[in-house]
Amino acid sequence: MAGKKVLIVYAHQEPRSFNGSLKKVAVEELSKQGCAITVSDLYAMDFEPRATRKDVIDRDLHLPVVIKTEEVMCGAQHLIGALSNPKFFNYGVEAYEAFKKRSLASDITDEQKKVQEADLVIFQFPLYWFSVPAILKGWMDRVLCQGFAFDIPGFYDSGFLKNKLALLSLTTGGTAEMYGKTGVSGDFRYFLWPLQHGALHFCGFKVLAPQISFAPEIASEEERKAMVASWAQRLKTIWEEEPIDCTPAWYFGH
Ligand code: FAD
Repeated sequence: MAGKKVLIVYAHQEPRSFNGSLKKVAVEELSKQGCAITVSDLYAMDFEPRATRKDVIDRDLHLPVVIKTEEVMCGAQHLIGALSNPKFFNYGVEAYEAFKKRSLASDITDEQKKVQEADLVIFQFPLYWFSVPAILKGWMDRVLCQGFAFDIPGFYDSGFLKNKLALLSLTTGGTAEMYGKTGVSGDFRYFLWPLQHGALHFCGFKVLAPQISFAPEIASEEERKAMVASWAQRLKTIWEEEPIDCTPAWYFGH
């Protein structure tokens, strides 16, 4: 739909991968609709996944209050700012305080700006250990911080990103049969619970049904092409979709 803004947070190392193809067709299809698309290509950006005290910076670039010699020697890109409690480091508290003081590292605030502007955030990734790859988990850990994405109170249906849609588009190694109700890996909805409910819904996102491309590595060329085509086809009417009912019943009660 013309004028809509879409952020694709993409986590795959290889542009010619199946995930790369899914990302590419999403960009093509949504561009055709007149959407404005931003892609955060996390590996290409060398996105820092670790949540550390380096995320609190000295915004005014004054002499840092907390600084380690080796960080200066290594040519750290910013000066580490004052912590609210230098005696006991608590990442969640420090990130919250830094968000309020606008002293979060710029790679975090750049991503927050992209999220803030987006109507829809698509996460494109291969399933790693029933979850997202570490680089994408790190994006969630650092970008969706308290104050920006939620507060206490101010979560789930009151989360700060409540006017936005989110969609997980993922690929698996296991087949659809393995992820069936009686399959050896258990219902695919089980591994969606922490991501869709624990993270996205917690931050207020309205969650659209996931796009799961099962086992592209063992699928035939025709099956792979059909999976890419069905994703492109779904995106044609994506703005008409209703979010899922993101409650325990959707995951465990059917
Ligand atoms: P690729 O290997 O890139 O692609 C498959 C094939 O598709 C390739 O031959 C490629 O050339 C071809 N292709 C690309 N584009 C197109 C196109 N447009 N049309 C037709 N063909 C195309 N799996 C699980 O199920 N559960 C887990 O818990 C899990 N944990 C993992 C943990 C780790 C650390 C790793 C490394 C893997 C894990 N996996 C798991 C497997 C992983 O999810 C799959 O390997 C991944 O999803 C496959 O997607 P891909 O994009 O990397 O495939």
